[in-house]
Amino acid sequence: MRWTPKLAAAALAAVLQACAGGPVSAPAPIAAVETKAPVTILVSIDGFRPDYLERGVTPNLSGLAAKGLAAPMRPSFPSKTFPNHWTLVTGLRPDRHGITANKMEDPARPDETFTMSTDDPFWWNAADPIWVDAEKAGVRTATMFWPGSNVAVGGERAKDWPNPITGGARPRDWAQFNMIIDNGQRVNGVLDWLRRPARIRPAFLTVYFDTVDTAGHDFGPGDPRTTQAVADIDKHIGDLLAGLAELGQPANLVIVADHGMAATSSDRTIVLSQLLPAGSYRSVETGPYAGLFALPGHEAGVEKALFGERSHYHCWRKSEIPARLHYGSHPRIPPILCLAEVGWQFAEKPPTARKEGGNHGWDNAAPEMAALFIASGPAFRPGKLPAFDNVHVYPLLRDLLGLPVARGKDGDGAVFKGVMTP
Ligand code: AMP
Ligand code: ZN
Ligand code: ZN
Repeated sequence: MRWTPKLAAAALAAVLQACAGGPVSAPAPIAAVETKAPVTILVSIDGFRPDYLERGVTPNLSGLAAKGLAAPMRPSFPSKTFPNHWTLVTGLRPDRHGITANKMEDPARPDETFTMSTDDPFWWNAADPIWVDAEKAGVRTATMFWPGSNVAVGGERAKDWPNPITGGARPRDWAQFNMIIDNGQRVNGVLDWLRRPARIRPAFLTVYFDTVDTAGHDFGPGDPRTTQAVADIDKHIGDLLAGLAELGQPANLVIVADHGMAATSSDRTIVLSQLLPAGSYRSVETGPYAGLFALPGHEAGVEKALFGERSHYHCWRKSEIPARLHYGSHPRIPPILCLAEVGWQFAEKPPTARKEGGNHGWDNAAPEMAALFIASGPAFRPGKLPAFDNVHVYPLLRDLLGLPVARGKDGDGAVFKGVMTP
């Protein structure tokens, strides 16, 4: 039987009842009150490629990988931040959970565009994230940033000012994302939550770091400054481990990335306005892939210009996207998807200056898009896992929290059978 938050709550209640008096013949087992059940901490290091562990600058992360489980994890398509963070906490692929891109349109809301600051539940309501499941089951949660953690999932925002939200659920404690809250403050925030009295202490927590992704974009994955960002995050992971040890707080850590990072150059640009006549199309997103609409009357011309064998990219009607990408049925996906070869990017106009850097969003099977996965703690046996899809993280989290298996999800967590302690 795993020592889950639900079991811990029951045991603590029994001990407190015994301490409170009543017909107790033996002395109350005080030590049992102080024994802390493991909490689950989900850590996201945005844009952390698994091979960053081989740079010799990650003693803490590499130590956790050696003591626990590690694998290169396949992100879902598109290998972008919001779609993948939502997959990790819902067990559904973007085509089903509805966060199909970092920037989206929805035919049901023709006057709106979803961006990474959109917190209207309308965009997020197709799936409950793990913290909502946990709270419903009586497991207290706290999030130090995670896409969607500031959203009242399941709620409704009124159309008229001041647009109050009715219903919906958030983590019991959460923080509004702000890049200027530094990594040390984020770690200390998690530790402070765990310092609370048991009554109001969370059993499931998240913490999110953006600095490795930012360095990867600015300098490219191979640049020493990206390695420096990796080294810096590793120190913060070390601080988290030291803080947990000081608190006597056992933890199952699930450390993930949302996607990897590949080198880019302005020399590898596919210019949409040179492929298609002005006024014949509209792009919702550009970059490693482009989501396009042909404007009325231009459908045949746009398809003729884009479809078939092309250098460095491939375009499909949304209904004909290869099945392995699991992408193309959601109404938020534009009618045409163009996917570039890794390292190439779509842009509206030719670049005005030479620039090298990094990006992600390409085919989720590309090795450069692979994401970090490390799991360590009392629930895990040491070992290596084969590469697996990130839809399986959600069932793992449910298991760690003592929640029953969820039906109808894309992930089943079978990859973790045999590597967990009983
Ligand atoms: P991407 O464009 O896919 O590389 O997205 C990474 C960026 O997403 C980060 O640099 C942050 O600025 C942003 N981001 C991450 N988490 C959140 C959040 N919870 N809310 C708003 N923006 C976020
Ligand atoms: Zn990301
Ligand atoms: Zn990024």
